Amino acid sequence: MTGSAYQMLCRSCLRRGYDGGEAPPATCPYCGSDDVRSSRELFGLTIAHMDCDAFYASVEKRDDPSIRDRPVIVGGRERGVVAAACYIARRYGIRSAMPTWQALKRCPDAVVIRPRMSHYTAISREIRSRMLALTPLVQPLSIDEAFLDLAGTESLHGCPPAEALVRLQRGIREEIGITVSIGLSGTKSLAKMASDRDKPDGFFAVDMDSAAAWLAPQPVSVLFGLGKAAVARLNASGIETCGDLVAAPDGQLAGLLGKSAPTIRDLAAGIDPRPVSPDREAKSISSETTFVKDLSTAAELEAELEMLCRKVSTRLKAQNLAGGRVTLKLKRPDHRILTRSQTLSERTDKAHLLFTVGRELLGREIGGRKSYRLLGIGAEQLGPPGGGDLLSLVGEGESRRDDLEAAIDDLHARLGEDALQSGRQFTRKHRPERDATRQRAAIETLSGQDDEDPQP
Ligand SMILES: [Mg+2]
Repeated sequence: MTGSAYQMLCRSCLRRGYDGGEAPPATCPYCGSDDVRSSRELFGLTIAHMDCDAFYASVEKRDDPSIRDRPVIVGGRERGVVAAACYIARRYGIRSAMPTWQALKRCPDAVVIRPRMSHYTAISREIRSRMLALTPLVQPLSIDEAFLDLAGTESLHGCPPAEALVRLQRGIREEIGITVSIGLSGTKSLAKMASDRDKPDGFFAVDMDSAAAWLAPQPVSVLFGLGKAAVARLNASGIETCGDLVAAPDGQLAGLLGKSAPTIRDLAAGIDPRPVSPDREAKSISSETTFVKDLSTAAELEAELEMLCRKVSTRLKAQNLAGGRVTLKLKRPDHRILTRSQTLSERTDKAHLLFTVGRELLGREIGGRKSYRLLGIGAEQLGPPGGGDLLSLVGEGESRRDDLEAAIDDLHARLGEDALQSGRQFTRKHRPERDATRQRAAIETLSGQDDEDPQP
């Protein structure tokens, strides 16, 4: 396609244009804005990756304009970690998953805000419904990012996908009040890399015709679906860039990557046949917390467990998912990790049912001199919520608890996470170590994705 005209879209006046020149146009011929995007295939590309910019921190800034120009960290204090850092905080080198104390050392003036997961999931749902208005092919990757396939939607929207996406981006900014970055290309892997290129409030397109050349100088770590261990093995053998990977001999790659070698070589060359599939959700949804002081009593641990079950339940409900298996995770003071799982007779998204199962698993591990520094709970074997919700197993009393939980969800959604607490949580909340809770939900989802093998 080299030699064909540049297709241009102005993000200011939303007009489309064509430019036959040698270099992409720097300004809009209609309104003069320099906020233009152009490539030779811009109006033919259909696969997008959309990522909210510093999502939790952006929501907090939107809700409280007094912190708009300050460095903001959303995360736990003391032993907690950073779940999101705003762009001002990032200038100090603060990143997600960094321990909060370390972040505060770099930037003592940072405002630290405890995550409000149910609030973020409500906004995430709002954004997702806007995506679904563009195409049914939306594949969420986490609370704040998703793939979209807009192939065949041009006649419906009366414009190419690029323009529909810029309009979506503008609508989210003006009506929801947060910014998102969009990558547009012809494959998921390229779209994901592209959305990272122009942040925040960005829009970046990668043409298929020039994808291999665009990828060649980039480090192999940018490839979507390639885990950290695989990257380390490649680097240790001198394969640093995507170009190196494409050029490596078959035998060497097979030795380093096993059966996935051909798929990964394709990724590095810009070939990625994985479809955007709305059903391919996260494999598990979990939440965990580390304590300032190791905990050992049932009362303390159960109070934490109940709160974590609420968080997992909120995220399940936000994605219209339910878990068929519950896994409890404990970490001993010597960092040994213990997991205990139970399969359910029917999938559930209910906090009280997750808690019932989790408490039973926990009960077997409490006692004697056993203490724990970390507690986590996860829902696995995800699928759409089933009808009966374990009614056959737990009996009629539970359906009243379902009604109660629906009422509590409603209150939380309207009045915030602290509107209503159980006695267990209230007692815990008024102890100083309560402050140490860390919210790792989003980070886990991301790292889970990171370790995922590429799907052929
Ligand atoms: Mg994001």
